[in-house]
Amino acid sequence: MSMDIKGGMLYLCATPIGNLEDMTSRVLETLTNVDVIAAEDTRNSLKLLNHFQIRTPMTSYHEYNKVEKAYTLIRQMKEGKSIALITDAGTPAISDPGEVLVRMCHEEGIPVTSLPGPCACITALTLSGLPTRRFAFEAFLPQDKKERRTILQELADETRTMILYEAPHHLRKTLEDLQEVLGDRRIALCRELTKRFESVERMTLLQAIAKYSGEEPRGEYVLVIKGRDRAELQEEVRRSWEEMSIEEHMELYERRGMDHKEAMKQVATDRGISKRDVYQYLLKPIDK
Ligand code: SAM
Repeated sequence: MSMDIKGGMLYLCATPIGNLEDMTSRVLETLTNVDVIAAEDTRNSLKLLNHFQIRTPMTSYHEYNKVEKAYTLIRQMKEGKSIALITDAGTPAISDPGEVLVRMCHEEGIPVTSLPGPCACITALTLSGLPTRRFAFEAFLPQDKKERRTILQELADETRTMILYEAPHHLRKTLEDLQEVLGDRRIALCRELTKRFESVERMTLLQAIAKYSGEEPRGEYVLVIKGRDRAELQEEVRRSWEEMSIEEHMELYERRGMDHKEAMKQVATDRGISKRDVYQYLLKPIDK
């Protein structure tokens, strides 16, 4: 069945995340019949197109030209061209510059359609064995220290299953940061999905840290982490700081990733006392 490709339109085309057999026939036909394919990395995508003997012209669309190039692509679509967007792997607009192009197309009245297919986060979630009904996709944690801490602190009380992307050379640091702020949680490390050495390692964050302290992380990873226990969270909220000792109040913030000084400042602010008072209190020997 031949597909009707419309001019003046953007086609988001999901491509395999490892196994070339996962290319859908609709994506194949679209990539063959559109006027232009915008690709995140044209060299990388050329291998894919060659494999499927697709000869459609390609142009680059990536992080560093995502706004100015979007204007060029939009102009071409306004002139009647059909354009397909593909990224390095998986579903365009998920954790890649596709999001910007889609938004700009909507603003310019260019119709967009999405051809579903492989997506690393959903593949990992389904394999994780963790609750799938409610989940939060966080993509990559920010590299900036402050921003990263803010996001981690937000995640500390997240009750939904959490999904993160991570590059192998950052895996150890990310596992340590997660454990420090979230505590020891269940995690599924989903590796090399759809590829020959696909694996799902189910353990706790502390076990994962121990494993990778003696082993080099290799390949692509999606981390699926158990959300916070709802009942436990509700209990913590119920027992607000007013019912807590200063030590417990400090512990609450330190568990959420604040360092000792930050926690002291926050405890002092909450209680309307000075940092010095908190400090003095913590120095006091506990009455037996
Ligand atoms: N848009 C893509 C999608 O559909 O999920 C994701 C792009 S993002 C730039 C790349 C990240 O996705 C990798 O760093 C890794 O965390 C994850 N990823 C992609 N392919 C994977 C695979 N085969 N196995 C495990 N993780 C993968």
